[in-house]
Amino acid sequence: LANPPAVKNRDLAVGSARLQEVQKAVHYYVDNHHCDVIGRVFHGIPGREASVSLSPTRREAASRGRREVLHFGSYNYSGLNGHPRVMAAAEAALKRYGTTVSGVRLLNGTCELHLELERALAEFLGFEDCITYSSGYAANLSVLSALCGEGDVVLSDMLNHQSIIDGLKLSGADVRTFRHKSLRSIESALKKLPREQRKFIITDGVFSMDGDVADLPGIVALAEEHNAFVLVDDAHATAAMGPNGRGTPAHFALQHGVDVLTGSLSKGLPGIGGFAAGSKATVDLLRFGSNGYIFSASLPPPVAAGLLEGIRILQEQPELQQRLHHNENVLRAGIRAMGLDCMNSESPIIPVLMPAYEKTFELTRLLHEEGIYVNPVGYPAVSKNRTRLRINVSANLTPADLDRFLDTLERCSRKLGLQGLDLARTGT
Ligand code: PMP
Repeated sequence: LANPPAVKNRDLAVGSARLQEVQKAVHYYVDNHHCDVIGRVFHGIPGREASVSLSPTRREAASRGRREVLHFGSYNYSGLNGHPRVMAAAEAALKRYGTTVSGVRLLNGTCELHLELERALAEFLGFEDCITYSSGYAANLSVLSALCGEGDVVLSDMLNHQSIIDGLKLSGADVRTFRHKSLRSIESALKKLPREQRKFIITDGVFSMDGDVADLPGIVALAEEHNAFVLVDDAHATAAMGPNGRGTPAHFALQHGVDVLTGSLSKGLPGIGGFAAGSKATVDLLRFGSNGYIFSASLPPPVAAGLLEGIRILQEQPELQQRLHHNENVLRAGIRAMGLDCMNSESPIIPVLMPAYEKTFELTRLLHEEGIYVNPVGYPAVSKNRTRLRINVSANLTPADLDRFLDTLERCSRKLGLQGLDLARTGT
C-alpha cells in the first residue's frame, strides 16, 4: 500500500497484482450479467421422472457388523442428517436434477439451488455473500491460494487444520505459525511488520482435535490495530456454535471483524461441500480467482437442496442447538467427574486425553464391545504425547444415551486404571 489507510483496509485486492487482474474479470462478468444468466440454465432431466427410494438411516446409531452401536464419533452435530424434511428436499431435487449438474459453476454447472444455497448461507452466517466449493478442504485450499500470495505474511495458529497448512503452501506466502491461541505470540509477530505490509491472521474457529474456541475478540482487536486481514475456518462451528448454529463470529457477534469465514457443509450441516463467506467484493474475487471453484464440478443438487432445508430448520428450531450444548455439557461434566482430562474443550468436540497409544486403542475396543462408537486419535493428527479419544456430540443423543455412555466409560476406564491420572503433570 502506497498510502496506508488510517482504518483497516477491507479491500483484499489492494496490494496484490494478481488479484487486481482477477478484479478485471469480475467486472467483465458482473457487468455482462453472466452470473444471472448461468443461474437460469435449465438443469432438469428432460423426459424422465426418476423413481428413487432412499434407505433411511438410524440417526443416532452406526451399524458395526449386525450390531448397532451408539454413535459418539460423528460430525452430525445438529442431528440434521436423516431429518425427514432434509431427506424429502434431497429426494425432490434428485428427481428433478439427477445426481449431478455435470459441470463447473462458471460454465453450465450452476442451478438455482446453488444460488439459493449461497444466499441462504450468507444470510445465516451474517455475511454479505458466500461461495461454495466441493469440500471444506477445497475451500481452504482455494481461498488461501487465491487471496494470499508471494510478498504477503500469514500468521497461522500452530493447531490449524491440515487444509490451511496445505492451502498456505500453495499460496507462496511467508507463513509464520504462532503458539496455540496466544495473543501475545500474534502481537509480537505483528509488531515486527510494517503497517503497509499485507498480512493475515488465520485461525480455526473451533479447533478440530482439542475442541477449544479461538479468541476471536482478541484476534480481531489486534487485526484492527495492526491492519491485518482475519480469516477463520469454522468447519466445526457451523451449525454447532453460536445462536442457531451461526458459527464462531456470530457467537462473539464479530462478523464485521472477520474478512473471510470458511467452513464445511458436511458436519453440523447435513451435506458435503465447503464455503467461504465475506464481503461481496471478496466473494466476487473468489468466484473468478479461486481454482477449486473455477476448475472443479459443482455440488450435487440433492445435496444443495438438503443443505438449504437444513439451514431453514436451524433457523426455525433454536432448540436443536440448545440440546446439542446441553448434551456436550452433561458429557464433559460427567467425564471430568471420573477424573479424566477433557483438556480445554468448550464445543461439541470433547477430547479425553490418554496416557499412551495402546491404552487409547484398548479403551476404544472395550467401548465398541459395549456398543459405544468413539474415534481414537493419535499421531500425526495430534502430537505423539497427546493421544486421545475424541468424542463428537450430537443433538440427537437422548438423556438415556448420555447415561449409557457415561456408565460404560466409567466401567471401561476403571478397568484400564485410567481414572485420576494427572496427564498434564506427568508430562505424557
Ligand atoms: N477444516 C477443519 C478444521 C476440519 O476439521 C475439516 C475436516 N475435518 C476441514 C476443514 C475439511 O472439511 P471437509 O471434510 O468438508 O473437506
